[in-house]
Amino acid sequence: MNSLLIVTGASAGIGAATARMAAFSGWQRIVVHYGQDKAGAETTASMVESMGAQAYLLQADVSKPKAIEKMFAKLQELKPGPVGLVNNAGIVSPQGTIADLTPERVQKVFAVNVFGAIEVARQTVGLIRAWGHGGGIVNISSAAARLGSANQYIDYAATKGAIDTFTLGLADELAPEGIRVNAIRPGLIETAIHAKGGQPDRLEKLGRTPPMRRPGTSEEVAEAVLWLLSERSSYVTRTILDVAGGR
Ligand code: NAD
Repeated sequence: MNSLLIVTGASAGIGAATARMAAFSGWQRIVVHYGQDKAGAETTASMVESMGAQAYLLQADVSKPKAIEKMFAKLQELKPGPVGLVNNAGIVSPQGTIADLTPERVQKVFAVNVFGAIEVARQTVGLIRAWGHGGGIVNISSAAARLGSANQYIDYAATKGAIDTFTLGLADELAPEGIRVNAIRPGLIETAIHAKGGQPDRLEKLGRTPPMRRPGTSEEVAEAVLWLLSERSSYVTRTILDVAGGR
């Protein structure tokens, strides 16, 4: 019934796979959100539409609260229905140690991964309540939240630790309303994020280190996300699910 799934950062990687597969698994309207990569988002949107769902292509830099507010103002004009959120947009920091964690660098990664994700969740909860048809949220965390990622990017790991804690608190707050909130901790997944973070050879170097001896795919993460947003997981909330090949 007029279901609307909002996927942030859907121009590539895990977000793009989730938007595509959501159309296949019955979501009727999908918000293909993007930051900079319009071409990637257009590709995702056309795949969504080829599977019979309606795509809404919307741009917003999630580190800018005003941009998020504008995006949700547009969504409020749509016909009401159940709402899902995949809080996925994120960046990694370059490889570094404590000496590299300048305030500018730390602020940048927190602005996208934490402040952006919290504001997107806040706006989504407002939409769910205004529409009155229920909804659910899946935050994309990282195995880094558990591992700490020493000598790689402990600031990035700390953003994902914040997302885990945010997930627990928000789930507690919203459970009485029937709004389920969960998170996924992907392990090493084959996407362009590693190259964007200045480590183009990361997958090649670490690809065989997970217990399953291979990196995961975006589709394998998307399957878990879509399950958590579906009725098939109707009694699952406040759960942080590892999709990490045993890591
Ligand atoms: P990706 O780079 O392909 O996707 C990230 C998406 O976020 C892109 O669409 C990008 O444009 C968008 N984005 C980044 N900054 C933005 C901003 N300021 N405003 C709006 N959009 C912005 O990488 P991915 O691997 O698919 O990452 C998706 C999520 O999964 C991220 O939150 C990431 O931290 C998490 N994750 C990835 C891995 C991995 O190994 N790939 C592991 C653990 C967690």
